[in-house]
Amino acid sequence: MLLVDSHCHLDFPVFDADRQTLLEQARQQGVTRVVVAAVKAAGWPRLWELVEQHSMLYGSLGLHPCFLAEHDARHLGELQQWLERLRGHPRLCALGEIGLDYAQADSPRDAQQALLLAQLQLAKAFNLPVLLHVRRAHADCIALLKQLRLPRAGIVHAFSGSYEEAREYLRMGFKLGLGGAATWSAASRLQRVLGRLPLHGVVLETDAPDMAPAMFAGQRNSPTHLPAICTALATHLHCSPEQLAWHSSRNCAELFAWPDLALAP
Ligand SMILES: [Zn+2]
Repeated sequence: MLLVDSHCHLDFPVFDADRQTLLEQARQQGVTRVVVAAVKAAGWPRLWELVEQHSMLYGSLGLHPCFLAEHDARHLGELQQWLERLRGHPRLCALGEIGLDYAQADSPRDAQQALLLAQLQLAKAFNLPVLLHVRRAHADCIALLKQLRLPRAGIVHAFSGSYEEAREYLRMGFKLGLGGAATWSAASRLQRVLGRLPLHGVVLETDAPDMAPAMFAGQRNSPTHLPAICTALATHLHCSPEQLAWHSSRNCAELFAWPDLALAP
C-alpha cells in the first residue's frame, strides 16, 4: 500500500529527537512522500533545510491564520522572495498553510481575509496549489476562492464541513484532506459526510503532531499512523484501505504535479 501524508508539521521541534527514525518507519509502512506545511515566516528556513536533508519531504510555505499576531506586513514580501528563489523546485509543492479560522474569537476576521487574499494572489502568480485551513469560515473562504479562481486549486486540510460545502470545494477542483478527526466515534456527522464523498476528491493526511487518531489517543501524531488512519477511514468511505490509499496517492500526484510517483496500476 503506497501512501502520501498530504499535510503535517514534521518540522516542529517535537520531532527533532527522532525525525529520521520516524521517516524510516513510515517508509517501511508504505508512506513514500510527506508534505510539510509551514505556519509562520520564522519557520521557513528550518523547514526548507529539512526538505533538503530528507528526500521524502516536500515543502509548502505560507502564513497560517492561527498565528496572525506573529505575522507582519513584510512577511508577505519575504514569502514572494522565497517563492521566486524556489520557483520550479521539484520539492516545493504548494503554498500554505493559509486560511481562515473564525473559531479564534480574538483574531480579527478582516485581517485574516486580507492575509488570505494576498497569499491566494501569490499562489495564482506562482501557479501553486494551496493548503487551506478553514474553521467555521467555509462561506467566506468559498466566496474568496470563487473570486480568485486558482488554476491549480489545492487541499482543504482536516475538512470537517458539510456535504454542501464539500461539493462547493470539489466543483472548484479542490481535494478534501482527511485524517485523525474522522476516526473518533463522536465524529458521526463528519463520518456521514465522508460516506457521500467521491474517491477522486479526497486525500489522506495526519496533521502530525496534532489530530491524533482514536487508535493513538493522547499520543503525538506521526506519519507512521497514516496506514491505520487509512484503514479506519476506508470503512466510512465504503471502500478498501488499498483503494483509498491508491486514490489518495493518485489525487496527490495530480494536484502536486508528481508524474514520477510510482503508482501501481
Ligand atoms: Zn496543519
